[in-house]
Amino acid sequence: MKLGGAYGLRTLARGALRPPGNDSAFLLDVHRRAVPTERMARYDDHYPVDLVIVGAGAGGATLAQRLARRGWKVVVLEVGPFWDPDEDWVSDEAGSHDLYWTDQRVVGGKDPVELGKNNSGRGVGGSMVHYAGYCPRFHPSDFETRSRDGVGQDWPIAYGELKRHYELLELELPVAGDYWPWGDPHRYPHTAHPVAGGAELAWAGALELGIEMRVGPVGITNGSFGNRPHCIYRGFCLQGCKVNAKASPLVTHVPDAIAHGVEIRTDCMVTRVEVDDSSGAVTGVRYISGGSERLQRADAVAVAGYSIETPRLLLNSTSRRFPQGLGNSSDQVGRCVMVQGAPQVAGRFPEEVRMYKAPPPEISSEQFYETDPARGFARGFSIQTVGPLPIGWAEHVMADGHWGQALREYARDYNHWYTLGALSELLSLTDNRVMLASGVNDQNGIPVARMDYSQCENDRKNIAFAKRTLREILEAAGAQDILTIDRYAHLVGGCRMGTDPEHSVVGPDHRVWGIPNLLIADGSVMPTQGSANPAITIMALASRLADKLERKLLDGRAGGRRLSARRREASRDENRGRASGVRPRSSPTPGGGESALRRDHTSAGRRSHAAGQLPDDQVG
Ligand SMILES: Cc1cc2nc3c(=O)[nH]c(=O)nc-3n(C[C@H](O)[C@H](O)[C@H](O)COP(=O)(O)OP(=O)(O)OC[C@H]3O[C@@H](n4cnc5c(N)ncnc54)[C@H](O)[C@@H]3O)c2cc1C
Ligand code: SF4
Repeated sequence: MKLGGAYGLRTLARGALRPPGNDSAFLLDVHRRAVPTERMARYDDHYPVDLVIVGAGAGGATLAQRLARRGWKVVVLEVGPFWDPDEDWVSDEAGSHDLYWTDQRVVGGKDPVELGKNNSGRGVGGSMVHYAGYCPRFHPSDFETRSRDGVGQDWPIAYGELKRHYELLELELPVAGDYWPWGDPHRYPHTAHPVAGGAELAWAGALELGIEMRVGPVGITNGSFGNRPHCIYRGFCLQGCKVNAKASPLVTHVPDAIAHGVEIRTDCMVTRVEVDDSSGAVTGVRYISGGSERLQRADAVAVAGYSIETPRLLLNSTSRRFPQGLGNSSDQVGRCVMVQGAPQVAGRFPEEVRMYKAPPPEISSEQFYETDPARGFARGFSIQTVGPLPIGWAEHVMADGHWGQALREYARDYNHWYTLGALSELLSLTDNRVMLASGVNDQNGIPVARMDYSQCENDRKNIAFAKRTLREILEAAGAQDILTIDRYAHLVGGCRMGTDPEHSVVGPDHRVWGIPNLLIADGSVMPTQGSANPAITIMALASRLADKLERKLLDGRAGGRRLSARRREASRDENRGRASGVRPRSSPTPGGGESALRRDHTSAGRRSHAAGQLPDDQVG
């Protein structure tokens, strides 16, 4: 093996290199997979923390970790559990049911989207606990589809504003893959994983057609990383990764967040964001825990509950001042929710290819990502390997119309099949929306979400072209039989960011129009979908948001000076406490002690801004 210069040294040392500003991988226990929570802060409900975050998923956990490092006092309320990979997860498809958000939702429209395991998760780590692990960046073109292609929406921010955050997150997850020639070309910190036989066949088929493929990019360790071990290639990534090799906020951001004073309070369903009707500022959130209703006070609230639960929560938070729900004065909340077309095409090969014998994400191509007028539709799609396990495979076979004896034969033949998927960029349409279902309530008496979805002609053409391309690759690779399934993946949008309150829910700084201390920090803010998987972009957006909050705090304006002074004091206290091994009086006590907090939050003058409102210039 030849290793050249600095790159070679980095490669040798990669398991020992800490990403800047995040020690998560090194804070995990060497002998058990659960995140250590023994010293986690506990805040009193009445203690007005700086920020309460709804949801500990891709956006919420990243934001919490970033702000905790800047001295913010943060509570994250998460409806699901704090997963212990050793105890809670199994390497078995049927046994992984608990990872998914399977509460009732209503679907409608001309092309209703199946919701459930394929769309969202619950519990600390959010949907990334059972995501596949693909971590491609968005392309610069994704941020300006309206100007370039006349479809979708231009983002109020450009790719360049996320680039630094992509680079940081690729170190933190860490991401492994080949040099990436598409979009903004770049390298990944970990070299590409080895790939199995099916991927080699698909690669050869693609080459035959002049389609370039690359290995990765995946948020899966290739070599050990801190106290996270190497991937063992058993292929149970969508079941939660018992090994902790696959990145999710549970292992990549939560340990560091906890070490910096974040409390993650689980089994807490937030039902309303509370507003002071006189000032219009939010004051905290109401939530159900152990059957009782509670109220967590906070100076600011960030909602990060996923593209369905975030609009649902805003729509349900009606008040005298906001009778249509929060951020909804222009009827924008819930609109422009998007999915990607995600058809899968499987090919049968004479030899055994055992598609379960690797992480499902192996190789991919973004050659068809941007608009090509010759194809007859705007925007494009990406190609990825997927690797369904046996139950997923049986669903695939049934979707192609086989049942009874034929289904059994196909199931027996599983080891000979290999599957490719496409992610087609479906356009953002205002009538595709999340609403409150009338007359259908959950166990807490809250209306469940209803999602209406219909495709446009451009969407249908995109999916049809993508399916043909996948079929051609498998045929060129020597497949003897082919099965196809139509499906969707990756919900984003519903509270999109924009430049004016008439056409968006939040501004470029994630602040809900007209409510200065209410932020949205998940995939719902995305104005377009791209054909890249969204998780790392959602994390990058949250990371950028934390930067924005920090910069505004430090920019010397009145409110900013006040809070930053308090934070400087907090972090001085914290450092003193660390040095002496004693928790600072004004910090939360580990293990749930509250007396110091009570003393602290009752001290007059702790909050000089009224009604929990952060002045405009402090939040965005
Ligand atoms: C099967 C599958 C495979 C996927 N594969 C990939 C992939 O390979 N690459 C990729 O980039 N993306 C993938 N994704 C998508 C990716 O995981 C999501 O897009 C991403 O996690 C969404 O981030 P988020 O912050 O918007 O929400 P989430 O990560 O879903 O976090 C939301 C959290 O909020 C909690 N919550 C919601 N409402 C409330 C409430 N009212 N009170 C308290 N808590 C609440 C939820 O329980 C959840 O934990 C996949 C998704 C699935 C389901
Ligand atoms: S294949 Fe690797 S990343 Fe996937 S579940 Fe197994 S160890 Fe985890």
